Parts: sequence; structure tokens; C-alpha cells
Amino acid sequence: MPELPEVEALAAFLRENAVGKVVTRVDLTGIQTIKTFDPPLSALAGLEVTGATRTGKFLDIDVSGVHLVVHLARAGWLHWRAELPTAPPKPGKGPLALRVHLDDGAGFDLTEQGTRKGLAVYVVRSPSSEVPGIARLGPDALALDAESFAALMKGRKGQIKGALTDQTLLSGIGNAYSDEILHVAKLSPFKGADKLTDEESLRLYDATRTTLTDALERQVGQQAAKLKGEKRANLRVHARTGLPCPVCGDTVREVSFADTSLQYCPTCQTGGKPLADRRMSKLLR
Ligand SMILES: [Zn+2]
Repeated sequence: MPELPEVEALAAFLRENAVGKVVTRVDLTGIQTIKTFDPPLSALAGLEVTGATRTGKFLDIDVSGVHLVVHLARAGWLHWRAELPTAPPKPGKGPLALRVHLDDGAGFDLTEQGTRKGLAVYVVRSPSSEVPGIARLGPDALALDAESFAALMKGRKGQIKGALTDQTLLSGIGNAYSDEILHVAKLSPFKGADKLTDEESLRLYDATRTTLTDALERQVGQQAAKLKGEKRANLRVHARTGLPCPVCGDTVREVSFADTSLQYCPTCQTGGKPLADRRMSKLLR
């Protein structure tokens, strides 16, 4: 799932490449993708792209006051195309959900792989009041100072993994970067957020900032097509089950849940003790 650094990089890419161009047409092939009906998608045609920003994990493309807001969810992505085919795409089973044509023949596709459809597009005049997911967002993960971060964690019951990824508590962090942040902070994902000592809270705050800003530095300025590979190449524990921890060499382990999983290093994060996981213990027996 694209998180704060990738969405910020996509916004930067669109500011470079789309701002100043006029939308000529929008093709919708994934009807379930569009979550609003007024203004209609066709309202974008003839208007100039005037800005592109990130709010949490949402991409907000300002088309002269009409906002095309995109939540890429788990398997959604934005593909920039220097030359878009002019023939209308066939609605069907492909990954293409929405295509935006610009007046110089370029444009972008919003796609989604897989059968679980989470990609969401909103056409609104006021994203902060008309997109429910944005209205509920907590402060941006990179906009917090150490004190407010500590206060958020202190006021939160439950595990820090869940706290970091709860968009209503703080926004921008998903499953991948929360694993990375916890590894940098050397904290167990299962530790209670309200049980962090002052020192641990500060360590978590520092890890959040360095992990996100390092990723941002690598990604902003990259071509849209390179972002996913860039993210994957720099992960330390996330999606690296069974591989060695780059810090200590221990084997990265996994805890799986119904529809997600987390990865961590026992030596770096849990005092060498593996966390309970039904599926994993079956695999290792
Ligand atoms: Zn380690």
C-alpha cells in the first residue's frame, strides 16, 4: 500500500508533470471506484490542473477548484503515461479503473490489481469536509512535535503497531512503514502505546521521523514508475519474513492476522523472544 512517502512523491511528480495542463477527458472503467456523483467526473473536462498535494495517504489533485481525490488503498497505483491511447478503454476485468487525459496527449491511469477492490476516487469541491476518510484524519505523522506525539501515544490503549497505523490518531503511516519504524525504534509491535516510557516514546518519535523523511528523500523526484521498487529495496523487516535482519542477522519473523501480517526482528525488538503466531509456529515446527 502506498503510504506517506509514496503519495507525497506522486503528488510532487504530478506538480511537475500535470500542473498547467488541461483535462480533456476522464474515462471510467471501474465503476465501483468512484464514490461521489456530484460534481460528476465530466466536470473535470476543460479545466486546468492547478495543484497536487497529499493529505494523509490521500492524493488530492486540484483541477481549478474541483478536486480529484484518490485513495490508492492496498493494490492501487497511478501510472503516468507520456502518450495515452485516444480510443476509450473497454470496461472489463483489467486493472485499469480510471484514465485522465491531458491536453498534450499525456495523462495517467489509476489501476488496481487483484480482486479485492479498495481503490477509491472522489470528485469534490472541499476534500476536508466531503471525503469522510479525510475528515476523520488525525494530524500528519510528519507534522507532529515530540510532545504531541508522546501525548497521542499516552492517550491510546492497545498495541503501538495499531496506534501507528490508525489514520484517525495520526495519518500517513501504513503496514509497511510501521514495521520499519518499530524496527528502527527497537520496540515490539505488541507493546502497549500507553505503556511506553518517556525514553521509548521519544525513540519511537525519532524513528518515525527518520524512517519517513529518509523514504521521502529517496522518493521525491523519482518517476512514478520507480517508486514501488524504491520502497521495496529499502525495507529492513517489512515483507522480509525468513530473511536476515540487516542490523543483527537474526531471522525476520512474521505474525499473521486474518487479512494482514506484520514482520519484526526478535533480537532487535522483542528481547530475542518470538511473538505468538499460530500460522508461523506451524511453519517452523
Ligand atoms: Zn535484528
